[in-house]
Formats: sequence, C-alpha cells, structure tokens
Amino acid sequence: MTALFDRHRAVLPEWLALYYRHPIEITHGEGRHVWDAEGNRYLDFFGGILTTMTAHALPEVTKAVSDQAGRIIHSSTLYLNRPMVELAERIAHLSGIPDARVFFTTSGTEANDTALLLATAYRGSNQILAMRNSYHGRSFSAVGITGNHAWSPTSLSPLQTLYVHGGVRSRGPYAELSDRQFINACVADLEDLLGHTREVAALIAEPIQGVGGFTSPPDGLYAAFREVLDRHGILWISDEVQTGWGRTGEHFWGWQAHAENGPPDILTFAKGIGNGMSIGGVVASARVMNCLDANSISTFGGSPVTMAAGLANLSYLVEHDLQGNARRVGGLLMERLRAVAAQLPLVREVRGRGLMAGIELVKPGTDEAHPEAAAAVLEAAREGGLLIGKGGGHNTSVLRIAPPLTLTVAEAEEGAAILERALRSV
Ligand code: PLP
Repeated sequence: MTALFDRHRAVLPEWLALYYRHPIEITHGEGRHVWDAEGNRYLDFFGGILTTMTAHALPEVTKAVSDQAGRIIHSSTLYLNRPMVELAERIAHLSGIPDARVFFTTSGTEANDTALLLATAYRGSNQILAMRNSYHGRSFSAVGITGNHAWSPTSLSPLQTLYVHGGVRSRGPYAELSDRQFINACVADLEDLLGHTREVAALIAEPIQGVGGFTSPPDGLYAAFREVLDRHGILWISDEVQTGWGRTGEHFWGWQAHAENGPPDILTFAKGIGNGMSIGGVVASARVMNCLDANSISTFGGSPVTMAAGLANLSYLVEHDLQGNARRVGGLLMERLRAVAAQLPLVREVRGRGLMAGIELVKPGTDEAHPEAAAAVLEAAREGGLLIGKGGGHNTSVLRIAPPLTLTVAEAEEGAAILERALRSV
C-alpha cells in the first residue's frame, strides 16, 4: 500500500490538527496495537483519545457491527431498533439516576449541548456554572463555557458562564491546603459566586479533567457542591465523556467518587462506549428529560450499527471486569511511572486514576510548564513504538496515558519502559 503522506515531502492541509512532526497514517489495529502505512507497529497508550475502550478489532464488536450492517444500517430515531432500546436500558440502569431516560447523540459535544439545553429549559435560565480549566466539546455552547480559554477565541457564548474553583488540585490559590480545607475553600467560593447571581441552571463538571491534564479534585468535592446546588435548585451535570465505563478503576463513573449526596441530575457520555463508533448520549430523570420536545430528534443518534457496537462493547467490558483490570494494571503503571518521575526533575507530577495517567512536565528547577519537552517526548515515544497523548489548550505540557482497558501487565511494563527512555532522552 502506498503511504498517504510521504514523510519527506508531505504537503498537509493546515486545518488538520496533527500531533507529530510527520503524521502517522494508521492502517489497522489489533488488541492494544496499531500499525501505520510504513509498517511500523505501535503500542497504543492513548486508545484513540480514550475511545478504543476494550481493544482494537475486538472480534465481539466487529461481528456485532457487521451482523447489524447486514440487516439494516439506519432507520432514524423516528422508529425503534432493538440494540438502541437494549443499550438505553442498560445505561439507564448503570447510571444510578432514578427514573432515568437516555437520549443518544453522535458525540460528546452534542451530548453536552443537549444537557445544557435540557438544564436551561428545565430551569428557565441561561446561567451556567463551569469549572476552571474544563473542556466539554467544540460546539458554540460547549466552547463557550470551557474554562480553558485557549479553546474559546470568542466570548460570544449563548450562555452566561461563571467559573468555579476545584477542578485542579495541585496548582492555584488552594494548592497547599489539606483535602478537607480544599473542599471547604471551593464550597465557600461557590457560595460566594451564588450570592452574586440570579437563577443559575446547572453546574457542569468533569470528575477528572481530561483535556485539562487529568487533574482530579479530592473525593467528595462534588458531593459538597451538591449540597449547595440543591439549596438553590441548581442541577448537577456530570460530564463522563472521559471518566465513564470503568476507566478510573475504582468506580464505573467518575461521579461515584462524590456520591454521598446521590447521583448527578444529568450525566453525559461518549468516547469509550462505542469502542470507536460515534456514540454520545445524555441520561436524566424523566422529569428533566421531558422538558424537551420528543420531536427534538437526532437523525444519526441511536443508529442501529453504532448501538450494536455499543452493546457488544459494554457487555465485554462488564463480563471481563475491565474496571477491575484498569484498577490493577493502572495501579502498577502509575507506581512505575512515579518511580521514574522521582528521578527526573523534568517531571513535576504523575497523577490520575485507573488507566488515566497524566505526567506534567516543567522546566527543571522551576514550576514553569514545558510544552516543548512534552512535544519532544511524544516524538521520542513514537520512535520507540509507543503512542501517547497530551493535554490541550493551556495544558500541552501534560502527557496523557489512557490505553484500552484490556491492557496487560506485560504491555504496561513495555510501554512504561519506552516512555522512560523517551523522558530520559529529552
Ligand atoms: N467532554 C469531555 C470531557 C471531553 O474530553 C470531550 C472531548 O475530548 C468532549 C466532551 C467532546 O467530545 P467529542 O469530541 O466526542 O465531541
């Protein structure tokens, strides 16, 4: 096969966001590995941006897709299809939200857009609380509320957004506080904000900030927020686009680390559920969901082929306890990465949960972000046969590790060794 891009004389469209100096043309994958058009094999430590959840070319998912495609590819959400109904039932049950309803979209952005639409319609207010350094997608409203302003070139959002402290633990004004003091300070900040506003529709938050560099608050922060939100009738939207389906190891959803005061009012999901097929969605109680007209359909949401993939993928995830594997193998990987980091002044922190590890790089001897080093580590890891990711916006000095949840101990060790060599080479 001829490569799409000639490494030495590539002319690339400028709108393509490419990670590497020379683009990688992926041709196929199997398990935790992918191959490029030049025949190189890579261990995939980024899982197509946390999307290949079980494995590349997992036979169970591939078969479900081809069987369904042979029957019917599309029927639209005007009609029912069995895989959609079965997947909705399973997700509603797993969500923990009472009297839950599921609405399928085709991306995380669209899921969050729908959640924002639901919350603003339900509450009759266009004020939203979002976390500093957050990311929720690239539509006008999702970009409009991001707390990572490198992503939002304009402030002409249809929503009025107020930003809350708490998504980032290790930097900022509360960095030196204990967990309890940190939570108290963030709650006081939230109360103060609410003292200066009229009706607010919802707080939207990622339990672990993804594009923001895999930062997580202490357990219980959102439960403490919930108490304040409830007093004001404000909805809590948990954006589980990166943290859902067991990726964090300890919990099936990220919100469960903040569960004392019950589940969120609205949960959004995408990425890992389809193992690469375009599935997003929103879960909310009937009371909230029904404030949108049923005719507000999504042409491609709930499409039978994607739903069949989602069902097969979810069944595999649950039956093989991939959440448990994320906890065990992720724990080992985290330990290994921390041991390497302790020897390297380039690394400020290794953080995360389960198979979601962030490695923050700084200029040695300073606390200054080092995006150039992160870019160089990415290149060196690629040369060593490993694909990893980076944070976005203001967080490009954070390396992100998020392999498929079937990662084996041997693969974790192999990847960590390549990464160690890459870090030492910079
Ligand atoms: N929410 C979070 C937390 C994300 O990380 C992302 C994408 O990275 C999105 C929403 C947007 O999802 P999508 O790219 O599927 O639109």
